[in-house]
Amino acid sequence: MSEFADELIAEIKAKGGITVHDYMARCNAHYYATRDPLGKDGDFTTAPEISQIFGELIGVWCMDLWTRAGAPDDIALVELGPGRGTLMADLLRAVPKLAAKAKVHFIETSPALRRAQAERVPRATWHDDIDTVPADRPFMLIANEFFDALPILQYVGDAERMISGGRFEPNGDVTEERCLAATDIMAAIAARLANSGGAALVIDYGYTGGETGDTLQAVKGHEHVGPLSAPGESDLTAHVDFHALQRAGKTARGHGPTTQAAFLSALGIGLRAEALMQRASEKERDDIARAVHRLTAPTEMGALFKVMALTGRNWPAPAGFPA
Ligand code: SAH
Repeated sequence: MSEFADELIAEIKAKGGITVHDYMARCNAHYYATRDPLGKDGDFTTAPEISQIFGELIGVWCMDLWTRAGAPDDIALVELGPGRGTLMADLLRAVPKLAAKAKVHFIETSPALRRAQAERVPRATWHDDIDTVPADRPFMLIANEFFDALPILQYVGDAERMISGGRFEPNGDVTEERCLAATDIMAAIAARLANSGGAALVIDYGYTGGETGDTLQAVKGHEHVGPLSAPGESDLTAHVDFHALQRAGKTARGHGPTTQAAFLSALGIGLRAEALMQRASEKERDDIARAVHRLTAPTEMGALFKVMALTGRNWPAPAGFPA
């Protein structure tokens, strides 16, 4: 066990227990601050790391919306939890006209990932949270696999679920999960959009109905592990409640949620893949086809991952969502 884990376990013992919420917050803060967890040699892979097409299509989504909003000169691109910065680098390359105008703001708490992001997007400005991002101009915000990393409260009936003595307490099925950090951030984004115009795009795995149950999970080296087995050394996530996000963002106009497969198909993932294949080797063509399958197949990320958007004052409806 790491020094962090030893200290956390001693603290839990001294206090007699810790909430799932505080455990998840503490473990993830340590986890992200101390490593770059992405990619083949890391713990998990995300859509922008699977294919450049992902960031490119989000670039096209932004470009289309910005153009139809009248292409305001003062425009910001904001990303929550940019990981390695891959999505933004692919996005900026795909839409040079927008890239030339836009200020780029990254909201990232991890020093390790800020360094990785600076290599790919040196022009970005970094923030600890959205409060310091300028609020006087329209912005387009992207959050891919950000909200799933925020700490959740779990309930077993009326009792908040705790961890004590290496076990969950009380015994019994989780009846409800809530992510206050997520709804707070959505409310802040929506209030800004209502004021300055712009859009927000949220992509994550999660649910759109009233599903309940325990969705807390831990991943290490691309395998599921027990959430209590290695504190601060595995990626703790929970499914995102898209209806809760929409309710929290209701001061802006909501679009979706739809599935990742439907969203990427509507943006033309098939055409983009074909274009890339035309100047690719046979091996590269296989890689492209495999990546598209991973992003869109219902047995892979296509159905579990959902996409929703918010748009602000006087901004048009975004592409990618059924009318
Ligand atoms: N969007 C990236 C990375 C997803 S991993 C991708 O798709 O590849 C989650 C990201 O959110 C990491 O960059 C992590 O450091 C960041 N993060 C997690 N909790 C955060 C918080 N509370 N505030 C800001 N960033 C956070």
